[in-house]
Formats: sequence, structure tokens, C-alpha cells
Amino acid sequence: MRIILLGPPGAGKGTQAKSISNKFSIPHISTGDIFRKNISEKTPLGIEAKKHIDKGHLVPDALTIDIIVDRLDNEDCINGFLLDGYPRTVNQAEALETILEEKGIVLDTSLLIKVPREFILSRMTGRRVCLNCGASYHITFNPPETDGKCNLCGSSLVQRADDSEETVSERLDIYDAQTQPLIKYYGDKNLLSVVDGTQAINGVFESICSILGEIKK
Ligand code: ADP
Ligand code: AMP
Repeated sequence: MRIILLGPPGAGKGTQAKSISNKFSIPHISTGDIFRKNISEKTPLGIEAKKHIDKGHLVPDALTIDIIVDRLDNEDCINGFLLDGYPRTVNQAEALETILEEKGIVLDTSLLIKVPREFILSRMTGRRVCLNCGASYHITFNPPETDGKCNLCGSSLVQRADDSEETVSERLDIYDAQTQPLIKYYGDKNLLSVVDGTQAINGVFESICSILGEIKK
């Protein structure tokens, strides 16, 4: 399975990605997680990315595309992958197309988790993440079993610096301007499936599984 997850920040891409990755045994590749790991390790990439991420802006395509080129070269991607948060611009989508063509690989689908803007603010301000494994929780909608600790690896949960109310609004505007055009981009290629992301987490997962089950047949 070779899948792209699309949807606004806070739609639930990371949450669903963990379950999809487990069920279909494909690596979950999140450019956001890769940037956050680099930021916490203070690498040159992390220091540069932080300047953009903290303002709610996209990291420049040149940096982001290189990360994906490297990551898709990894052996664990041979039998499939799940991209979460990439592509975010048409330029990134075109670069991905070139990378996949060179590898002789085709995408199965992009999956849009559709969530209207009015749902997003409460999801993002209540989000808590594990910087170690990337798992995402919500203080009300999906609390961890032990307060402040990741269910999967036991590490401490933190609130993302870019999940403040002001930054969320900027990120949503950028999504509308730069990422939303990908819906038409993949729709025109007949590579778009849509799920209702306003359902509860399990309901969204069931909808995704039924779409992916059809594709696998
Ligand atoms: P994304 O990766 O698309 O930015 P996340 O998966 O991190 O989004 O989800 C954003 C926040 O919303 C998290 O706090 C998560 O626990 C919560 N969340 C995810 N899916 C749902 C849902 N279907 N209903 C309610 N809250 C959700
Ligand atoms: P995410 O974890 O997907 O919400 O990403 C967090 C932040 O990382 C985004 O708001 C961007 O600043 C940056 N980022 C992640 N993926 C990309 C990408 N494909 N292109 C540009 N910036 C990205």
C-alpha cells in the first residue's frame, strides 16, 4: 500500500496514521515528526525548520523534498508507505511524482480526512504529543491512560509550540492557500478518497479501512 494522507492540520492524520501503519504493516512517514526530532536534537535542519514552524509557516520545499527523497530510499519503504503531512504544496506533489516514477512505483490513493475549520481549534489546542514516538493525544477526545505519559512508549507528552491559538489560525490560512489545491490535483488523477473526519476516532478508522480494503482487492 502506498498512501498519502491529506487534510488540514488537526484533521487527525497522525492519529489515524499510527493505526493504518499497524494494520497494513507500512511505515508511517511524517515530515512534521522528522522536523520535530531534528528540532529537539538541534541539528542544522532542525534549527532552520524551527524558524518557519514556530511562525506557522511551511518549511521551504527545497529542504522538505530532500527529506522525502532520503526517507523513501530506506529499505522499509520497499513494500509500501504512508505519507502524513507530505506533500503540502503542488510543487512537493510534483517532486513526489518524479521520485516515484524513477522508482517505478505508483500511488494507491490519497486519503482526505475532511474536517471543517470550526472543529480544528479545539482539537489542536487540546493536542498533546509524544516527541519520542510521535503519538498524538487529546486532553478530552483521546486522553492517554496515564496523565502526561505516552501509552505506546511511556515518554512524557508535551504541547506543541505551534498549537497556540494564533499559530493555528495562520496554519489554517496557509493550508487553504497552499495545500488545499492538492485535493483537485489528486482528484484529477483519480487518486482521491474522502473520509468524514468529524466522526469519532474509531469511526474514522473504520471508514479508512473500508476504502483501503476495496483498494487492496
Ligand atoms: P494532524 O496529524 O492531522 O495534525 P492529529 O492526529 O494530531 O492531527 O489530531 C489532532 C488532535 O485531534 C489530537 O489531539 C487528536 O487526539 C485529536 N483527534 C484526532 N482525531 C479525532 C477525532 N476523530 N475526533 C476528535 N479528536 C480527534
Ligand atoms: P505537522 O506535524 O504535519 O502538523 O507539521 C508541523 C509543521 O512542520 C508544519 O506546520 C510545517 O511548518 C512543517 N511541515 C511539516 N511537513 C511539511 C511539508 N511537507 N512542507 C512544509 N512544511 C512542513
